[in-house]
Amino acid sequence: MHYFVVFGNPIAHSKSPILYNAFFERLQLGARYSQFLLKEGESPVATLRAHGFSGANVTIPFKEIAFAECDEIRGVAREIGSVNTIVREGDKVIGYNTDAEGFYRIIAKRFIPKNALLIGAGGSAKAIAYILRQHQIPTTIVNRSQARLQSLASAGYKTMLSEALSDDHQFDLIVNATSAGLTDDSLPLPIDKMTALLKTLKAQPQSLLVDIVYGHTTPLFALAQSLEIQAVDGLEMLLTQAALAATHFFDIIQPNATTRIDKDEAYRILCECAPI
Ligand code: NDP
Repeated sequence: MHYFVVFGNPIAHSKSPILYNAFFERLQLGARYSQFLLKEGESPVATLRAHGFSGANVTIPFKEIAFAECDEIRGVAREIGSVNTIVREGDKVIGYNTDAEGFYRIIAKRFIPKNALLIGAGGSAKAIAYILRQHQIPTTIVNRSQARLQSLASAGYKTMLSEALSDDHQFDLIVNATSAGLTDDSLPLPIDKMTALLKTLKAQPQSLLVDIVYGHTTPLFALAQSLEIQAVDGLEMLLTQAALAATHFFDIIQPNATTRIDKDEAYRILCECAPI
């Protein structure tokens, strides 16, 4: 039996066990998936090894630690510097990032933005900043504190402290990649500034708010809805990035399968069997 987990703190809100267990059952893969609360300072990679798990998803606040600890990093995670999927291959633990492509899939099927605001500078924000730059979408990144902005600034991104952002920009995409609203009632920016930015968003011919927090209606998502702005919450991204991770899990469970599962098929299955 293969066991998979999602590492995080907090983790009780995670929908990943429902999703992946349904996926494993649908494909009769004989694997189980559960949530795993890690304490601050604990290691996702060492815990994976110690418990004999075959793979894991990694969420807040462990994505950057996981990146640093994997034996090998593959794909876009190398440039992003954060990992949200880890799998065991023999003695090695391999790290991937599926947040970036998962995020871009939800944008690209709607429109191609011309000017994006990305709020947050953690692991998810790094993945989103990377993929927006890959697609040549000009992006301003703001964060409430300086420390995590620094590495993005050093990598050539346009960054500023949230308090320095004026509210008269013409963004057509605003992304909340902070944890604001996850376990509290906070907005990622002060309410006056957030409301003004959402109103300028609404004035664009095509625009979108993405709040990547999922599991409940956040104050930001509710505010966008009250202003009748096109908005997407984190569930769609959860499904797109989970589908990409599921293809890696499939390969670990069935390394000799003659037919591999592709990401569109994995996404379709997750959408069908996700009772969330
Ligand atoms: P990190 O811990 O790496 O980064 C958290 C970021 O949020 C930092 O920029 C932090 O700022 C900021 N932040 C935290 N609380 C607040 C607040 N109250 N107001 C303003 N900024 C705040 O987290 P991740 O990047 O891994 O995840 C961020 C969120 O995205 C989580 O809610 C997570 O559940 C969600 N997520 C959703 C996914 C999906 O598929 N839908 C995928 C991945 C993540 P500072 O640097 O100042 O501390």
